[in-house]
Order: sequence, then structure tokens, then C-alpha cells
Amino acid sequence: MKVVVVVGGVGGARFLLGVKAALGLPAVGAVPEGAAHQVTALVNTGDDVWMHGLRICPDLDTCMYTLGGGIDTARGWGHAGETWTVKEELAAYGAEPTWFGLGDKDIATHLIRSRMLRAGYPLSAVTEALCDRWRPGVRLLPMSDDRVETHVVVDDPEEPSQRKALHFQEWWVRYQAELPAHSIVPVGADEASAGPGVTDAIAEADAVLFAPSNPVVSIGTVLSVPGVREALRKTEAGVVGISPIIGGKPVRGMADACLTAIGVETSAEGVGRHYGSRQTSEDGLLDGWLVQSGEKVDVPGVAVHAVPLLMSDVDATAAMARAALELSGVDFD
Ligand code: GDP
Ligand code: CA
Repeated sequence: MKVVVVVGGVGGARFLLGVKAALGLPAVGAVPEGAAHQVTALVNTGDDVWMHGLRICPDLDTCMYTLGGGIDTARGWGHAGETWTVKEELAAYGAEPTWFGLGDKDIATHLIRSRMLRAGYPLSAVTEALCDRWRPGVRLLPMSDDRVETHVVVDDPEEPSQRKALHFQEWWVRYQAELPAHSIVPVGADEASAGPGVTDAIAEADAVLFAPSNPVVSIGTVLSVPGVREALRKTEAGVVGISPIIGGKPVRGMADACLTAIGVETSAEGVGRHYGSRQTSEDGLLDGWLVQSGEKVDVPGVAVHAVPLLMSDVDATAAMARAALELSGVDFD
């Protein structure tokens, strides 16, 4: 079975552990040669940023470290056993920005990536090379090799009469999404192409899942890449999403600030309707939508099932993934 999962960072990576487990693959690490099932993740790269001359790809790295067994599980991002010497030294020089967590071990990943990018390798090839070490057991495909960066338009904190576009990382990490967003824009998406293998993976999939990732700045950014929506509309695979919103709130993080910015209600129903029906609407994407047990949700033209949606451990996440695969219509036991 070929399963394609659209993902962001922490929520996406944790969900991928469950997808692997649901398919009988080891949740962490490489899959055995000749395994019957293949998982491909289409990963958001809209959070990517240059800092201190290094190219940082938060969502790709979160997926790679989580699936490769190197993640700091409590924090959800970065390396286990990380140290912060370089960050402290940079701060001692007064080097900006100081608000971004750049760990010593993580820096090695960014050094290799930046060197390869400067030598002319596309991000997809760089990611493959980094995965040679981490062996995530999932094909991690950047949504695009082109530079697409999510920017957030806010009132300028220094000059409130003016508006200012911040890189997503600055809005999210430095300002904790507390500056109300007028709009959220994937800069460069119009001219970008889907990364190698991205639309083919969707076309050849037996099932396509939207992880319970941020609907705006994770899933929404992948969907903004030309060709991705069209491929999702056309694929013969069932397309099923999992709600990141439980009881009207994001399970973690500040997705509500992003949804408000695009005028979508922070609820499982609001997000399901935002993705829309592949059957009954002209640009909708879902055949199925998973919401938390006990929630009554109606998304016209979409089969809504309610199951426990908390990714408290790999077994619980595997049960969610199994429910999503079943809802997608694959023959699955
Ligand atoms: P990021 O890129 O690191 O911000 O992570 P993602 O975009 O992949 O995922 C963030 C989303 O995951 C948030 O909106 C959370 O609400 C959602 N999330 C986190 N943990 C859970 C969980 O246990 N269950 C569900 N349903 N959603 C979750
Ligand atoms: Ca992210």
C-alpha cells in the first residue's frame, strides 16, 4: 500500500509515527527491505529561513529527527541531549536574531544543508542525503525545491500606524503569534513548482491523509504550491483529513491565531469545511474527515467519523491512522 501524508512539523511527525505503526512498520527508524507498504510525507517548507548564514528547515528536521529517533521528545523539536553553546556565543556578540533556538547538534544539520544548497543541490536532494543518516523509514519530500516562505502581515510593533510583513518564524517564535495577523501569505508560491515526486506520489497513492497539522501554515502552505491541489482533486485515492482542533481549540500551539487570520472558525467543523468536499464542491479536497469522539460535526459532501484524536502515544496514534486509512476506503486489516 502506498500512503501519502501531508504534514507540517510536530503534529505531522507524531502522526507519521502512527501511520507507520498502523501499517505494521517500526514507528521509529528504517523499514525492512521489501516492506509491503510505503509512506511518503509531503512536507511544508514555508517555515524555512536563513539565519546566521544557515538554512533552517524546521518541519523537515522535526519529521527527520522524530522518525529517525533523534528528537527531543519533551520539546517536540530539536535534538535529544542538545546543548546551546553556539547560541550563547552568538548572543555574546550581539548577533541577531537571538530569539531562535539554534542548538549545537542541530547546527551540524544546518551546516551540511547550507553547504549542499550553496553547491547547487536542490533541497530534495539535500533532504535525501540527510536522511541517509537518520533513516526515517518515510520518504520525506519537500513540497517544493523553490523558495516559498510564509509571511505574516501585522501592525508594525514599532510603528503601529504602518503594516509590516514578518517572516512566519518571527511572528510565531518571537511574538508567539500574539500580534493579530491581517493576512498570511506563502511568498513565492505562485512561481514555485512542486518538488520532485510530489504530484506523482499523490497520483499513485492508495490513500492520501492530511495530518492533524496546522491547517493554514502547514497543510495550507503545501496546498499553495501549484499542481498540488489539482493532483489531490484528480487522484483515485481517498483523501482523509484529521482535525488538529479538539473542543474548539488547537491541541497544541496557536493555530487559532492562523485560522482567525484567514477567517475560518477554530473548530473541527470550520476546518473541515475550509478543506471542503472533493465530491460536492468545485475546489474541495476531502472525502473523509476525522474529528474527536463525541463531537457533532457536519461537513457537506464529506464522510465525518468521530474517534479519539489525542496522539498520547504511538498506539493511540496508530489507532487514529488506522481509522483514517479505513475511512479512505483502502482494503486494510
Ligand atoms: P508545527 O509545524 O510544529 O507547528 O506542527 P504541525 O503543523 O505539524 O502540527 C501542529 C498542530 O498539531 C497543532 O495545530 C495542534 O493542534 C495539532 N496537534 C498536536 N498534537 C495533537 C494531538 O495529539 N491530536 C490532534 N488531533 N492534533 C494535535
Ligand atoms: Ca511548522
